[in-house]
Amino acid sequence: MKDEFDAVVVGGGPCGSFSAFTMARHGMNVAVCEEHREIGVPTHCAGHLSLSGLTRLDLHLPSSIVENMFKRAVLYSPNGNELSVGSDSPATCVVNRGLFDKYLSDLAKKAGAQYLLESRAESFVTDSGFIRGIAIRKREAKQTLTSNLVVDAEGCSSALLRRTGLQTLDRSMIVNAVQTEVDRIDNVDINNVELYLGRKYAPGFFAWIIPKRDDSAKIGLATNVGNPREYLYRFTQKHPVASKKLRKSKITSLCYHPISLGGAIPKTYSNGLLTAGDAASQVKATTGGGIIFGLLCSKIAGKVAYEALQSHDFSEVFLSRYQSKWKRQIGFDLAVMRQIRKWLNRLSDDRIDRIIELCAKSGIDTVLEDVGDLDFQGTSLIRMIRRPLTLVVALYFAFSAFVSST
Ligand SMILES: Cc1cc2nc3c(=O)[nH]c(=O)nc-3n(C[C@H](O)[C@H](O)[C@H](O)COP(=O)(O)OP(=O)(O)OC[C@H]3O[C@@H](n4cnc5c(N)ncnc54)[C@H](O)[C@@H]3O)c2cc1C
Repeated sequence: MKDEFDAVVVGGGPCGSFSAFTMARHGMNVAVCEEHREIGVPTHCAGHLSLSGLTRLDLHLPSSIVENMFKRAVLYSPNGNELSVGSDSPATCVVNRGLFDKYLSDLAKKAGAQYLLESRAESFVTDSGFIRGIAIRKREAKQTLTSNLVVDAEGCSSALLRRTGLQTLDRSMIVNAVQTEVDRIDNVDINNVELYLGRKYAPGFFAWIIPKRDDSAKIGLATNVGNPREYLYRFTQKHPVASKKLRKSKITSLCYHPISLGGAIPKTYSNGLLTAGDAASQVKATTGGGIIFGLLCSKIAGKVAYEALQSHDFSEVFLSRYQSKWKRQIGFDLAVMRQIRKWLNRLSDDRIDRIIELCAKSGIDTVLEDVGDLDFQGTSLIRMIRRPLTLVVALYFAFSAFVSST
């Protein structure tokens, strides 16, 4: 295999493959190196995606990848108060993450990208202050891949990115997640995803039950303190609502992975380098969802890489347009969601019980039917609080976050 490319991508996750797809489709000569033997394995993610996000990305997934579709989300407070929000038609879906990753890598391969599996990027190749490729290791063999540009999509470990001098993820805003699949659930409407709030069961985040069509489900949570496995045990055994639904469930798979909730890193480009996806922390801090925003940014990264090739300019001055473009699309929403996450984390369980109760009693669920785009929560929030009822609830929420923190 020849070892000179227009661009090399680190990581064969969704963001690496989507940037490779975008570049290869423009005729660029692209290699993707992935440290694992198989794309999509192991998988660490629930795979819950908005349909509007997939449409925006022009992704039309085969039905074999989609495990279920959902009309509503049901939020539960720690004492079991319930609020259902959504619409009459499907708004989100859950995908098989392994198959989803393979689907994106197949798109990239069909467009001409080459994949190097079991190939770990160990360091960047640098020349005169520019990144000019990567040094990889495949088992005992080392190889250097030279390129005009590297797209770092290594995920939230950021091991490689740390060496560039760019500021990496905000460690204080990382939560540790556990994701499981269980064989059987009871009394769960398969048209709804269920989210369980509260410090008692998932401090710093929430727990979820995502049903599949066959009565099995994806269950998980994340926490900013302690061991997620212990919280998972408490959630499945003690939660007043969830424990009843999970009484007969057996875990069929289990994995652990961090989620970065700190908002995007300050600088996502350098001479000869772009970074996208979890590596750049382009993740919604409210929900931990990183796929739709990560893919939007990866697509922009791929296009900017092509423009750089056309202009023979891989300097950070040129590549800074990547950051301007993704910020224009999602910068405001990322910042608002980060602030909402901070407020949510301040709420005591009692407050969450009361807020959910207030929302359910006030009929806000019907107002929220038309919240706008599920991914662009900052923009949707602005639209929502123009309505008197949601303004009252938003003020109560902000007041509660303030009171709980003092
Ligand atoms: C428990 C959990 C549940 C989640 N649920 C959802 C959800 O429902 N919806 C959603 O939108 N998001 C969810 N997320 C977040 C989502 O998983 C990530 O945002 C998404 O995977 C980011 O994709 P990525 O390509 O940037 O990184 P990754 O998917 O992490 O891919 C990075 C790839 O790079 C490879 N790699 C790393 N270092 C190297 C190296 N040095 N050399 C070669 N290869 C390397 C890795 O093996 C990996 O394949 C969840 C996360 C967790 C932890």
